[in-house]
Amino acid sequence: VEVINRIAAGEIIQRPANALKELIENSLDAKSTNIQITVKNGGLKLLQIQDNGTGIRKEDFEILCERFTTSKLREFEDLHKLITYGFRGEALASISHIAHLTVTSKTKNDICAYQASFVDGKLQGVPKPTAGNQGTIITVEDLFYNMTVRKKALRSPAEEYQKISEVVCKYAIHNSSVGFALKKSGGNNDVRTPVNSTQIENIKIIYGNAIARELIEFSLTNEPFKFKLKGFITNVNYSTKKFQFLLFINNRLVDCHGLKKCIDQVYSTYLPNNAHSFVYLSLELDPGDLDVNIHPTKHEVRFLNEDQIIETIATALETKLLGSNN
Ligand code: ADP
Ligand code: MG
Repeated sequence: VEVINRIAAGEIIQRPANALKELIENSLDAKSTNIQITVKNGGLKLLQIQDNGTGIRKEDFEILCERFTTSKLREFEDLHKLITYGFRGEALASISHIAHLTVTSKTKNDICAYQASFVDGKLQGVPKPTAGNQGTIITVEDLFYNMTVRKKALRSPAEEYQKISEVVCKYAIHNSSVGFALKKSGGNNDVRTPVNSTQIENIKIIYGNAIARELIEFSLTNEPFKFKLKGFITNVNYSTKKFQFLLFINNRLVDCHGLKKCIDQVYSTYLPNNAHSFVYLSLELDPGDLDVNIHPTKHEVRFLNEDQIIETIATALETKLLGSNN
């Protein structure tokens, strides 16, 4: 059974950046306004995230890493929404099967923080009182320690750190009111955005002024397919940077190959030589229209009327790019 749990966990968490994405979403769900991430060896040795959110009550530690257990159920009146948002309580459980997991947390009403570690989904001993501020510290050590093949496949800590950094940067732009910081253990911050910043300001901090000063607001509301789109695009090439594509659907960072391909096409017609541009899109769909059969932690999403919605977005993007040129 343990092997099966481990394999399942390894499917959900393929690399350190996947684990971090889940942890950031948990911190955001806990209404944090400050999120600090510390990394050692590309997240394989250490991946730690500290937030100032609501915290976890001592009595909830017991069930924290039980699969399909979530505290977020009560917030959603409607089961459909629950499923589509992917609140299935699998992230921490999965991490505990493939890493050494320690949780330190303090709620507003507790006089001290509590700390405990988890192995294979189970709380070890009882949570111990410790010093700490309100919020939660999740410490993930020796990721994939019990998955030799996976560990060998992820040979480059630098590449894993790059992926981690991309995840942090994208969330920092999407959630600009939250302050984010990322550093290597013992080092200085490589990424830092202030609390209560704006999306444009954070794009400037992260991608530089050359991109920030060219940003064009791009928004769209569509009645027939019930979607809303907001974001920023640019209409110039940055030959020194690769194409930056940030896509959030219902506030989750996702991949959508169909949409990416279409946007690539629009840009390669509009900027024929080398379409290195910047596109940040936040798409809001009716939660019921997202495909519930795709596992929530899988990054690729499917949704109802996908082709038509992609087509509508691509057409609007083209119009916007052409219009921006006059
Ligand atoms: P889910 O997010 O789907 O509920 P997770 O496995 O990601 O499942 O987290 C399990 C539970 O642990 C959450 O429902 C939440 O109650 C609690 N939790 C995890 N991370 C945090 C955090 N940073 N702050 C407060 N609570 C947290
Ligand atoms: Mg979660």
